[in-house]
Amino acid sequence: MRKEYNPTSIELIHGDITKSEVDCIVNAANTSLLGGGGVDGAIHRAGGSEILEQCKQIRARQGGCAVGEAVITTAGKLNSKYVIHTIGPVWNDGKNNEEEKLQSCYINILELACKHNIRSIAFPNISTGIYRFPKIVAAQIALKSVKNYIELHSAIDRIQFVCFDEENYQIYQKMLEESGM
Ligand code: ADP
Repeated sequence: MRKEYNPTSIELIHGDITKSEVDCIVNAANTSLLGGGGVDGAIHRAGGSEILEQCKQIRARQGGCAVGEAVITTAGKLNSKYVIHTIGPVWNDGKNNEEEKLQSCYINILELACKHNIRSIAFPNISTGIYRFPKIVAAQIALKSVKNYIELHSAIDRIQFVCFDEENYQIYQKMLEESGM
């Protein structure tokens, strides 16, 4: 699915984000920045050791990355220039500002992308795997944060939402149709 919104093109992909051909791939990492399971493991496997080396340098400088924040590295062997690593919140009954923290992830990623003149970016469904964030709420936050951002800034030409699992793909398809994006 592909739509035009403001000057930005929005694409919905059902598949593996490591195959995306964009300036920047977003990683749903953990606070250690040392790799893990899910999309994090897939990005480090496909991108090679250069990504981990840069993550280690960031750790040495600032001691990892906090929930809701984002850091940038090379994309190593991926078909991209950069990986932006964000740390999504773990869902714990929704009473620990999980929604605000997930929104911060998207905002911080987009601001960092803008600083690096990134024109195309692919997002996974942050926090909806091992971190158990409810998928519908996570998709609402993702779309709203991105929509608000691109309404105010025209720097990004192309945004991909990459859904690995069928459930997220169906949710995004429905929401994108309804949202007017
Ligand atoms: P988190 O810890 O933030 O929940 P996960 O990696 O467990 O991170 O899951 C985040 C989302 O990434 C999930 O929706 C999962 O289905 C998806 N995912 C897993 N592997 C890939 C991949 N190779 N490409 C895109 N999305 C992926």
